[in-house]
Amino acid sequence: MTQVFTNDDGKTLTDDYQPTALPDESSNGDAHVRHVRVAILGTGFSGLGIAIRLKQGGYDDFVLIEQAADVGGTWRDNTYPGCACDVPSNLYSFSFALNPHWSRVFPPQHEILDYLRRCAGRYGILPHIRWNSELLEASWNEDDQCWHISTTQGQLTADMLILGNGPLSEPSLPPIPGIERFEGTTFHSACWNHNYDLTGKRVAVIGTGASAVQFVPQIQPIVGHLSLFLRTPPWMLPRQDRPVPDWKKTMFRILPITQRLLRTRVYLRLELVALALVYRPAMLESFEGFSKRHLARQVSDAALREKLTPRYSMGCKRILLSDDFYPALTQPNVEVITDRIREVRANSIVTGDGREREVDTIICGTGFHVTNAQLPQHVYGRGGQSLADRWHAGLSAYLGTTVSGFPNLFLLIGPHTGLGHNSMVYMIESQINYILDCLRTMRRRNLRAVEVRPDIQEAFDTEMQQRMRGTVWTSGCISWYLDANGRNTTLWPGFTFEFRRRTRHFDTQRYDLIPQRLPDSRA
Ligand SMILES: Cc1cc2nc3c(=O)[nH]c(=O)nc-3n(C[C@H](O)[C@H](O)[C@H](O)COP(=O)(O)OP(=O)(O)OC[C@H]3O[C@@H](n4cnc5c(N)ncnc54)[C@H](O)[C@@H]3O)c2cc1C
Repeated sequence: MTQVFTNDDGKTLTDDYQPTALPDESSNGDAHVRHVRVAILGTGFSGLGIAIRLKQGGYDDFVLIEQAADVGGTWRDNTYPGCACDVPSNLYSFSFALNPHWSRVFPPQHEILDYLRRCAGRYGILPHIRWNSELLEASWNEDDQCWHISTTQGQLTADMLILGNGPLSEPSLPPIPGIERFEGTTFHSACWNHNYDLTGKRVAVIGTGASAVQFVPQIQPIVGHLSLFLRTPPWMLPRQDRPVPDWKKTMFRILPITQRLLRTRVYLRLELVALALVYRPAMLESFEGFSKRHLARQVSDAALREKLTPRYSMGCKRILLSDDFYPALTQPNVEVITDRIREVRANSIVTGDGREREVDTIICGTGFHVTNAQLPQHVYGRGGQSLADRWHAGLSAYLGTTVSGFPNLFLLIGPHTGLGHNSMVYMIESQINYILDCLRTMRRRNLRAVEVRPDIQEAFDTEMQQRMRGTVWTSGCISWYLDANGRNTTLWPGFTFEFRRRTRHFDTQRYDLIPQRLPDSRA
């Protein structure tokens, strides 16, 4: 495999990068198992972000466990046509590594991936990564007071385990009867089949979330026919994407303060949306009017407009941005179908009204397992309880980061850290601050382990659910923000600067603190 990472000067940092097994890894049962201070799962914004900050803080004893052969997470896996960020480029990056080179207001996938590769190279993270290494199991060992981790590349132990496996990394396929019998080609937008030529094909797209809204306008001109199965139309606002002019890029490079100022402006503008989503849902009515006018401007056919008009409060599901989705749906080779799918047959899809449509390809833009992901089944805390069992009644973590019964475990983008309005990188960096302060505290106070108190975690849950009441997310729609019990355990119900404030310092009084063991005097 050849991977080329370059630093900001365009110099190649790593060529012919081979996934490396660390020297002490072995399938030999007698082999010494490597111990590290910190094990990090994932190399997306979360994993790379904490690794870089650890390195900057003088910690070098850490590894990143990554199941793939490249960094990037979301931005490595989602390569569908039109894939791009919905947050302006100046904000969607690490605060400590601004990028003056973004080509557009909303960065395309490949630029974000390049950015993450450059960060991994520039900050010296690559040698710490165990490529092609899937985490199989992690369990807290009471005797050693550390994490025992098993991966497809071997074992290791770690004082601390940080999960940066991403909330949107397990694609979810729709449970439609018969879909397994389909004889054509099927794929999920997060695993785009680039070897399959869509030209002239009869394509069915299931789902109209953020990904479908981006790839439908890209594939519509080349496919023979496109059947878009739409269950709930999204609220849509104009995207107004445009290239960043060269003079601006030069200005950002020479005077980084200008980019930082713009970044702050974008941040504050987006934060105003939280005001409407959380505190004043009535404010969203004016946005709804704006969105309906956007639809009316782009779709003249009244019947199609009717199908595309949302029937729930704006913001209850993610608000989408697009200038080309509606126009694509008005093209003669597109049919928008609002009837529910009854079954999939070998070469067709049958809807509730009994109509059968022949298709060659089904593309699922059906999102991810968010509240029912697999990984928590393989992480075991004190007493052998799995994180999945701990969460049987719903996801829960104090400040979205720590879980009682799981000492020295930290989640990045855990429960209640998701956003419907601003950059996730801001939340990730807030959590990173918290974890770093925890590490410093542990060193200063000579602690072996920290574990959030159960009453504190419970009080946090109660606070979150109380604050959810009255928000637009509890206004009655069905969304991926909600778990099987209808509880929103995904989003942060407030301004992001409040989250930043609350994660600024590691709050020891809310934790059980386990001191380092004294050397055994009997020995
Ligand atoms: C299509 C798409 C568009 C998005 N757009 C936006 C946006 O506009 N704005 C925004 O703020 N956010 C957006 N997001 C959310 C985005 O996921 C986050 O912003 C951020 O990239 C998450 O980074 P992460 O490192 O936490 O997770 P990820 O990027 O998902 O990285 C997780 C990493 O963990 C690895 N991993 C997982 N499980 C294992 C395992 N068992 N063993 C080993 N490795 C494992 C994965 O391979 C992956 O590399 C978008 C997400 C998607 C899917």
